[in-house]
Amino acid sequence: MRLVFVGPPGAGKGTQAKFICEKFGIPQISTGEMLRAAKTAGKLPTELVEKMGLGGLVPDEVVNGLIAERTTQDDAKNGFLLDGFPRTVPQGEALGGLLKDRGQSLNVVLALDVPGELLIERAVLRRTDKRTGQIYHLKYNPPPQGADLEHRADDQEDVVKKRVDVYEKMTAELLPYYDKLGLLRRVNGVGTVDEVKGRVFAAIGSK
Ligand code: ADP
Ligand code: AMP
Repeated sequence: MRLVFVGPPGAGKGTQAKFICEKFGIPQISTGEMLRAAKTAGKLPTELVEKMGLGGLVPDEVVNGLIAERTTQDDAKNGFLLDGFPRTVPQGEALGGLLKDRGQSLNVVLALDVPGELLIERAVLRRTDKRTGQIYHLKYNPPPQGADLEHRADDQEDVVKKRVDVYEKMTAELLPYYDKLGLLRRVNGVGTVDEVKGRVFAAIGSK
């Protein structure tokens, strides 16, 4: 199973990706997570740290390189879920090219649709447990006592607005791109986590 998850920031991709990855036994590959890990390790160049902090995209070559390397690791042999990559049509083309060179292809591209006003609330109140990576929401999925919570630097309201804007300008054009390739399935991301989960599994033809 090789799957791409597209959707604006805060749509619920990471939350739903966990369910799919558990079900299919595939790794969740998030370029955002990889970049944040590089930043924490002090290995991300300052100009990229600044770009991320302002809600912009890092250059295509950087993330294309991360994906080319990560998808060859052992745990990705039977497939993977890409969360937050590709984010531009050139990234989509690079992914298509690298899979083709390996005699592989994508099975499905899931797009999670959530309107702008919900995205801001979902992202601004998102908290992640540093130890487990579990995603919580202060209102919709409150963390347990004792969780070691992190509030992402780019989950401030003004930066989230910028990221939604960047999604609309740079990433949304991947929807017609993948639709033409016959890979796109759109899922309504409004509702409880369980309701959305049901729709996601229906869209990929699984229970
Ligand atoms: P993304 O990976 O698309 O940026 P996340 O999965 O991290 O989004 O979800 C963003 C925030 O919204 C998190 O705080 C998460 O707990 C919350 N969330 C996810 N799905 C739902 C939902 N269906 N209803 C309400 N809140 C949700
Ligand atoms: P995410 O965790 O997916 O919300 O990504 C956080 C930030 O990392 C984004 O706002 C971008 O700055 C950067 N980023 C993650 N994935 C990509 C990508 N595929 N292309 C460019 N920038 C990315």
